[in-house]
Order: sequence, then structure tokens, then C-alpha cells
Amino acid sequence: MANSKYEYVKSFEVVDKILPNTWIVVRIDGRNFHRFSDENEFDKPNDVQALNLMNSCAVAVVEEFTDIIFSYGVSDEYSFVFKRTSQFYERRNSKILSTTVSLFTAYYVKKWKEFFPQKDMRLTPSFDGRVVILPSNVNLSHYLAWRQVDCHVNNQYNTCFWMLVLNKGKTKKEAQDILKGTETQDKNELLFQQFDINYSNLPAIFRKGSCVFKDKVEEIVKHTESGDPVKRLRKKVVVSHCDVIEDRFWKDHPWILD
Ligand code: ATP
Ligand code: ATP
Ligand code: MG
Ligand code: MG
Ligand code: MG
Ligand code: MG
Ligand code: MG
Repeated sequence: MANSKYEYVKSFEVVDKILPNTWIVVRIDGRNFHRFSDENEFDKPNDVQALNLMNSCAVAVVEEFTDIIFSYGVSDEYSFVFKRTSQFYERRNSKILSTTVSLFTAYYVKKWKEFFPQKDMRLTPSFDGRVVILPSNVNLSHYLAWRQVDCHVNNQYNTCFWMLVLNKGKTKKEAQDILKGTETQDKNELLFQQFDINYSNLPAIFRKGSCVFKDKVEEIVKHTESGDPVKRLRKKVVVSHCDVIEDRFWKDHPWILD
């Protein structure tokens, strides 16, 4: 298109290039999912199909935006980590953020029926998003540890809260009061004494959240004439409920932060 006299307004656009050679994290979070989860009758405290839907959307985003090297999700949020050297949209903040949020949201709507075949979606979901810039590998691992600690603290509280409400007939206010000021130890005791629940035996997807990344997976690529399988290590996007607080995860998967 030829230049017009109006084109000067282009220079008013906000310049938002992200510092080179830093980890770019986009964290998205469901808008008003307290209400969305109520309206769609999610199981409390954890609806596993809702989590599986979030994970499936994250896998689709990771497969489409190949610069994402790791992502971590819990509840209605997901953090997507773009590689340090990424030149995606020339590192323009608003482009990276807006396309990640809208792609995730589009998948959420598109995949709903796959995970809730018996439920028509009520309300229209949307997600907010923000960008976090992390200058070092240690900062990045601390960021992910922070989200996973948050997952643990919230899940432990919510498990106690909903057990008291659903199985002991407590009101929400009563359950809140019972849990006020309790420590991790107290909550584990409460679950064990009153409900015979060993917290560490609850499903890892609830306790640890979900990691999506490329892992080395052994795959059968063909069979020999005598019928023996020929295996190769391939990198494949996986969903895993592993611990990212311990250093061990990063030592076992050195290619992720390469
Ligand atoms: P905001 O718009 O500020 O994010 P919000 O209502 O989404 O508000 P969050 O702090 O993001 O608040 O909390 C999300 C809420 O969504 C949780 O507290 C929980 O009630 C609900 N929720 C999300 N995922 C699930 C799930 N898998 N199972 C059950 N409830 C869920
Ligand atoms: P980018 O990701 O950089 O925006 P793009 O392919 O979306 O790349 P645009 O400059 O935004 O490039 O142009 C959008 C293109 O989409 C148009 O050039 C046209 O080919 C196509 N398109 C959009 N809307 C319509 C429409 N209503 N009918 C036919 N083609 C359309
Ligand atoms: Mg256009
Ligand atoms: Mg919030
Ligand atoms: Mg939310
Ligand atoms: Mg949230
Ligand atoms: Mg376009």
C-alpha cells in the first residue's frame, strides 16, 4: 500500500520490545473462574476434567508456538516459558502476550466438548495475561517453584475446606474458622484424623500441578523382518506432574534450559 499522509500515526504505537537474552514468561489466568467453575458445576475442590482441558490447551499452544520450552499450570492459570533466544514477533511484548492468550482461549472453547461431552458450556470464558521477564536460570526456576508452592498451599487448604463442607456438613464460614491460623502440619493431621486421608497419596495432578515440555520418549519406529521392535529416543511434548521445586528436575532434563 502506498504511503498516505495519515501514516505518521504509526509512530504513536507503544514500543514494547523485551530485553534480549532473557526468559519470557507469559502467565494467563481465567477471568472470574470462581463463577465460571460454579456455573459449569466443576467438582470441588478439583475438577479433574477441567484440569485435563487446561492441560490439553497448553499442549496445543506449546506445539504451535515452538519457542515455548516449558509450561506449568494449576487451577485456572498457565505459565508459558519462551526460550531466551526467542525472536518470536521480534520480542514485542504485546504481540507475544496477546497471541498466547487468544490462542489458549480459542483452544479452551474449541476443546470444551472433548472434555465435557455431557455439558454445554455456560458463560463465555476469557483469560487475562501478563509478561514476566526473568534474567537468570535461577530466577526462572524460582519463578516456577513459586507457582508450585502456591499450588501446594492452595490445594491443601481447599482439600480441607471442601472436606469439612461436603463431608462434615460445616458451613463455608465454619470451615474457614476451623482452618484459620493452621499450619501445613495441622492440615495434614486434620485430613488424616477426621477423613482418613493421607495428603501425599492424593493425585499428583492436584498436589503438584502440571508441567508441559518436550521429553525424551522411547518410541518404536519400525519392526525388523523378524518382528523385533526398533526403538529410538524422540522428543515429544508430555504432560507430567513432577516436582520443579527440587533441583533434580532440572538436572534430569538439562536440554530444557539449554
Ligand atoms: P480472577 O479473574 O481475579 O482471576 P478468579 O475467580 O478466576 O478471579 P482465581 O484466584 O484465579 O480467581 O481462582 C480461580 C478459581 O477457579 C478457583 O478458586 C476455583 O474456585 C476455580 N477453579 C479453577 N479451576 C478449577 C478446577 N479444576 N476445579 C474446581 N475449581 C476450579
Ligand atoms: P500477521 O500475523 O502478520 O497479521 P496475516 O497473514 O494475518 O499476518 P494481515 O496483514 O493481518 O496478515 O492480513 C490478513 C490477511 O487475511 C489478508 O491479507 C487476507 O489475505 C486475509 N483476510 C482477512 N480477512 C479476510 C476476509 N474477510 N476475506 C478474505 N481474506 C481475508
Ligand atoms: Mg491485518
Ligand atoms: Mg487472580
Ligand atoms: Mg482466575
Ligand atoms: Mg487463578
Ligand atoms: Mg493478521
